[in-house]
Amino acid sequence: RGSVRFDNVHFAYDPKRPILKGVSFEVPAGKTIAIVGPSGAGKSTLSRLLFRFYDIQSGSISVDGQDIRDVTQESLRAAMGMVPQDTVLFNDTIAYNIRYGRIAASDEEMRNAAELAQIGPFIQTLPDGYESMVGERGLKLSGGEKQRVAIARTILKAPPILILDEATSALDSATEHEIQSALDLVSRNRTTLVIAHRLSTVIGADEIIVLKDGVIAERGTHLTLLARG
Ligand code: ADP
Ligand code: ADP
Repeated sequence: RGSVRFDNVHFAYDPKRPILKGVSFEVPAGKTIAIVGPSGAGKSTLSRLLFRFYDIQSGSISVDGQDIRDVTQESLRAAMGMVPQDTVLFNDTIAYNIRYGRIAASDEEMRNAAELAQIGPFIQTLPDGYESMVGERGLKLSGGEKQRVAIARTILKAPPILILDEATSALDSATEHEIQSALDLVSRNRTTLVIAHRLSTVIGADEIIVLKDGVIAERGTHLTLLARG
């Protein structure tokens, strides 16, 4: 359960400026595929298209063999979880923000997810910019801490398909290492699309796809790509 397929996908935000020019790849159920490439190559666009935030001009995108145009937005969202580059938090406790991944989760499951993502000590606080009814101000979380909330939410949700868009980019290298282990844990045996701009962060991927100027410039394992330089 959970395969993803892009078939000759063409997409442009602005018709005069194509972003994806015929992109085809498959993420087999349970495998991890990494998309790497320079900034502006269209990597994040791929994940937005998978959620149908935009419609493609031609080609097709399918999940479990079903064209996503024939799937409801609800089932699409239920099937996928994304750790985005920038996480927007709701005006509620960090605990609620994590629980949003799966409202029916128990307190214990929520706390375990918070621990795995190393955000445990903050769960009773409000995020920055918000104020409680008794006038308590929210805590100013760093970009990395917000990202950990998003990671905890996704760990709790445990969706069949996981999309990690530069998921550890806002973390310092010490926490990046530990959070990466937590992410490896959730992505094991789960269909995972990893978006990264450094090859060194996607060593374990089953296949690495290099996207450049809207086309797949290269593909292979970490070893074969390194060997080719
Ligand atoms: P990457 O993730 O590889 O850095 P993106 O997919 O974010 O690249 O963006 C690909 C190109 O599309 C960039 O040139 C970017 O400026 C442009 N782009 C991204 N989002 C939009 C948008 N909402 N409207 C118009 N252009 C956009
Ligand atoms: P559900 O309530 O069924 O869990 P969500 O609305 O939370 O569905 O969406 C599912 C996933 O899609 C979440 O992991 C969330 O991070 C991501 N997502 C939803 N909307 C957006 C958005 N506008 N931008 C980025 N990610 C989004």
